[in-house]
Amino acid sequence: MAVDLHQDRSRRQILRLSVGGALGGVALTACSTLGLPQVSKADANYVDRYRGPEQCEQCLHFVAPRGCTVVAGDISPHGHSKFYLPKA
Ligand code: SF4
Repeated sequence: MAVDLHQDRSRRQILRLSVGGALGGVALTACSTLGLPQVSKADANYVDRYRGPEQCEQCLHFVAPRGCTVVAGDISPHGHSKFYLPKA
């Protein structure tokens, strides 16, 4: 059976992206649970008021009343950053 090289290459790219994304999530979770330094608000692209549904109070990293395991500083329950991860 002949192997379509283009299709095989695409499959490898998808697998690489999936593994990379999974490892990034694991690394981020590990950082927050291992007590490693938090990310600054600027580096996290944090905003204090976010109009969308993905607000801090719905994020796995949010620590009530105004904290976060990933981003440093005072965190609004209605904020948002690029590290948003929905609660299960
Ligand atoms: S959205 Fe960002 S700043 Fe807000 S709780 Fe989640 S990780 Fe922290």
